[in-house]
Amino acid sequence: MDEKYKSLLIQELKQELTNASNISTGTIAAKIEDIGFSCLMCGKCCRREFGDNRVLLIPQEIQVISDYTILEVHEIATPATSDGSDSDLIDTDGKIHTFGWMLARKSNGDCNFIEDAETSNKCTIHDVRPMLCRTYPFYMQDMELHISECEGLGHKISPEESLTIACDVIDRYVAEIEDTIALYGKFEGFTAGKDNLKITSGKAAGKCHVTYVVHDSKGTHEVAR
Ligand code: SF4
Repeated sequence: MDEKYKSLLIQELKQELTNASNISTGTIAAKIEDIGFSCLMCGKCCRREFGDNRVLLIPQEIQVISDYTILEVHEIATPATSDGSDSDLIDTDGKIHTFGWMLARKSNGDCNFIEDAETSNKCTIHDVRPMLCRTYPFYMQDMELHISECEGLGHKISPEESLTIACDVIDRYVAEIEDTIALYGKFEGFTAGKDNLKITSGKAAGKCHVTYVVHDSKGTHEVAR
């Protein structure tokens, strides 16, 4: 990445961070109360069959879950790939570059931490679940409150609960901006390769071993899959 472009991006993010730190929790809480929300424990946001259930994580969250579960990092998180093709991020050595991590998923695509469908929709790491799960279906983007699809929307919520979610949503927004600033600070770039299609089709057919290079706010990590 061009150094000038990188410092411009960081500068913009720092401005966004300043703005984000001044967001009124009361205003966001009032919006949430107005929209209404109650978690129906349907588990749809955790299961693959109901749509995109990827949960992006920052490194600190992986550590918290690891401390809680005593699981290794590779059992908690995988490179944050798109659910489709990631062929544009392959370098000259055939390694796939990704930015950040997402929660590991079971072979059926469900989150690793949801109980089996026949048992319940219980989250086994509820106390330390990632910010994305804690705040779903709400999130902040470009200083505005946004909502994802969810059957719990429109249900009555108390002012106290709205305020709790508002605080979590803003904390998440700030944490993600800070993490992205740190990521850009560490990112040194890579040279894109030409052999993308061959590698991704081999990967899709399960015929080749893939090495990911994950760029995060702590640096660069190679992961074999
Ligand atoms: S961590 Fe818990 S709440 Fe988040 S997707 Fe997994 S099971 Fe669902």
